[in-house]
Amino acid sequence: MILLDGKQTASDIKDEIAVKVKELKAAGKKAPHLAAVIVGDNGASITYVNAKVKACEKVGFDSTLIKLPETITEEELLSKIEELNNDDNIDGFIVQLPLPKHIDELKVTLAISPLKDVDGFHPESLGRMVLDLPGFLPATPYGIVQLLDRYNIETSGKDCVVIGRSHIVGSPMSILMARNNKVGNCTVTLTHSRTQNLADITRRADIIIVALGKPEFLTGDMVKDGAVVVDVGITRVADETKKSGFRLLGDVDFASVSPKCSHITPVPGGVGPMTIASLMMNTLQAIEMK
Ligand code: NAD
Repeated sequence: MILLDGKQTASDIKDEIAVKVKELKAAGKKAPHLAAVIVGDNGASITYVNAKVKACEKVGFDSTLIKLPETITEEELLSKIEELNNDDNIDGFIVQLPLPKHIDELKVTLAISPLKDVDGFHPESLGRMVLDLPGFLPATPYGIVQLLDRYNIETSGKDCVVIGRSHIVGSPMSILMARNNKVGNCTVTLTHSRTQNLADITRRADIIIVALGKPEFLTGDMVKDGAVVVDVGITRVADETKKSGFRLLGDVDFASVSPKCSHITPVPGGVGPMTIASLMMNTLQAIEMK
């Protein structure tokens, strides 16, 4: 069993981006500038946003963290987004999800300029992905594609099962795995909460991508020998033995699944760091697209 080391791969990608940023600066151009907007004080969101800002420092990007109170109105947030859309100094920005319940996430996603949509959630970005046109790919699926690519996982003609159909992970992932690209050309089955006999479907799969947010959901009896398993799930579970008071669990029962796999991602250290590396790739692409 080979571990798909997202931490190391993300670090390699960030090193490559850092070289490109140095070249840009040497050519008299400015470093890419990423802004991250966070609303409220959700612990997990703060951790993710801080990791994104730290990654910017590592690759030599400029970054701006915009912290807004939980009580901000939807109108105020939309006007902040408009400001960022019109700020020539900002090349790309993200609004960390989830947002407080009184704010419509779709409205916010639609308000972000497609030219600065480095999370790749805007309908224009998703449409470009479907049509195989240049554009921003959603960060988590893009990270998974990069990871499979860098480990030379053969995907062409393989049977790929995606569990979970969210707009940010499962649905775009299923499209990317079916595209006619180096990582792609799979026969894809997109499964979800209404899927019947899921274990029968996953047992046939050569590649399983699990993104449903239920800790240790995929167990060894659902996986065939030699499968490639990618675990997107991250759930905080209370753990008094940890200084933080919690530990992170993936959607895959690593103990029973990993002995059957040819390749598997760990949690943490798998898809999470790759998502951040993809955000850096998209931000670099934002200035190239300018
Ligand atoms: P979501 O909650 O938006 O969607 C969950 C999906 O799972 C739904 O489509 C639902 O139909 C499906 N589902 C629920 N129960 C099911 C079942 N029994 N069988 C099959 N499908 C079922 O999820 P999301 O936003 O895609 O996130 C999924 C997980 O991935 C979460 O743990 C989240 O924290 C994590 N995540 C990680 C990263 C990362 O960078 N590593 C990024 C995004 C999300």
